[in-house]
Amino acid sequence: MNASRFLALSLALLICLSLLFASCANEKLPEDPSSEPISEVSSFEPDPEEEESSLSEEESSNRQEEVSQNNQQESSSVKNEASSSRPVQNEVSSRPAEKPATKPGGSAAVDNEGHGIFFVIEKEDLPAKQSDEFYFSYVQQYDLGWNMKLLNKSNMLSADVDCELVDVGSGRLFDARASKALNQMISACRQAGNTIWAQSTHRTLAYQQKLMDNQIQKNLNLGYSREEAEYYSLLWVAPSGGSEHHLGLAVDFNEITEYFENTTTFAWLQENAARYGFILRYTEEDTEITGYGYEPWHYRYIGPDHAMQMKELGIKTLEEYVYTVEYLLDKQNNA
Ligand SMILES: [Zn+2]
Repeated sequence: MNASRFLALSLALLICLSLLFASCANEKLPEDPSSEPISEVSSFEPDPEEEESSLSEEESSNRQEEVSQNNQQESSSVKNEASSSRPVQNEVSSRPAEKPATKPGGSAAVDNEGHGIFFVIEKEDLPAKQSDEFYFSYVQQYDLGWNMKLLNKSNMLSADVDCELVDVGSGRLFDARASKALNQMISACRQAGNTIWAQSTHRTLAYQQKLMDNQIQKNLNLGYSREEAEYYSLLWVAPSGGSEHHLGLAVDFNEITEYFENTTTFAWLQENAARYGFILRYTEEDTEITGYGYEPWHYRYIGPDHAMQMKELGIKTLEEYVYTVEYLLDKQNNA
């Protein structure tokens, strides 16, 4: 090999190495200490696969989006865009205070084993069906209890919740009042022969902001303008204050991928989660109502009474259900 060829080859190698280093440095995300798995043995027995799948849903979603962009798969990109194109609706400070709820037919809110108000709803009592936009924009009117707080892009939190959080395994935190139900559901699901673990649970507002900043930076790195980067980030990452994970009542299971819907674990949850008080929060057909893409891995605790009632009434989203409950409360109050 002559000298000039050797020089050219060395230069090429050097460029490759520095590019590789730069991309690794960009990939590295600062981790929230609160979400860092703890090495202690826990009763939760995190799945061995957990190490490999420690991506947050946002990271994993972004990876999917990058893959689809790289492959120029139009259909996948279109689905991502269409799935959750709702902008953030109202300002945090403009949110009115919730009124204390009064049960229809009764005079006071009923405390149902530590949960908020609950009453049986008959199918003939259901209000007329409203538009997707109506449900998406609906602002919760009443305090229906800690388990029935609506949190979405139209109902945002301005501060972290003030409730007791307990470790449900590997340092992941959950509302103490619902942690028993989560543990019981996971145990029962495993006893039925399925693999399940809680991959992501409570998040602080600050941590959610960090996820959003990281996502925007990734999109900027892909060549989008600041405006585009922010727009595309909002499709997949909840804004700080708008993630249900702030409540300590939301849980993402297993690898946090859409393939989760093909697992026996998902089938088991579809059949049984309501009995433990959990609902699939972001359904495939209702992205215009929830404002978020389909997330088969994301479950929200609302308590068994409400979860079973939603199932019986065939109401798929919490937006529609909270509206229904509050419509009936209003009807009662104005009677
Ligand atoms: Zn989630």
